[in-house]
Amino acid sequence: MLPIVALVGRPNVGKSTLFNRLLRKSRSITHDMPGVTRDRIYGECRMGEVRFDLIDTGGMVLESEATPELSKDFEDEIFEQAQEAITEAHAIIFVVDGKEGLTPLDRQAAEYVRRSGKPIFMLVNKIDGSEFEAELTAEFHSMGLDFMPVSAAHGYNLTDVRKRVRKFV
Ligand code: GDP
Ligand code: MG
Repeated sequence: MLPIVALVGRPNVGKSTLFNRLLRKSRSITHDMPGVTRDRIYGECRMGEVRFDLIDTGGMVLESEATPELSKDFEDEIFEQAQEAITEAHAIIFVVDGKEGLTPLDRQAAEYVRRSGKPIFMLVNKIDGSEFEAELTAEFHSMGLDFMPVSAAHGYNLTDVRKRVRKFV
């Protein structure tokens, strides 16, 4: 079995964009696993001799921050998907939005992920230009996680992300 890395974070931070970007570059095939909800998507990453499975999740929605447009049942299902992905994974890529900054939900989700005791690497996404990187403030450091600024949209730092992932799987 290949090592498993799960992309986790609240909705809209760019997990799926990162997922597609990371797989495309390594010529991986994405597929829905039969028997699981479509919100947990698996793809095999190949980078030289390093191979691992990447899981995209629907996003962590915790009770304290309900999303008005989603039904409670749907939220529960998404959360369960994220939980199962964390359980399955050997390592977690925790994604936050570098433009929007941290929200209470990010902190709650991070706390939840931390409880898994698994290695966590944080990606501060949507850093599309150097002007944003200059704004990477103490708030991201305050999470106490190793992190790297990236832009899933522009591909910024994604080669380095792959190198990091190689190290922890
Ligand atoms: P998910 O809910 O975490 O899977 O987030 P998505 O991948 O669906 O992205 C949410 C939104 O953020 C979409 O409109 C994306 O186009 C946008 N997005 C994702 N990555 C980036 C990025 O690096 N820069 C910018 N500016 N937008 C991004
Ligand atoms: Mg998504």
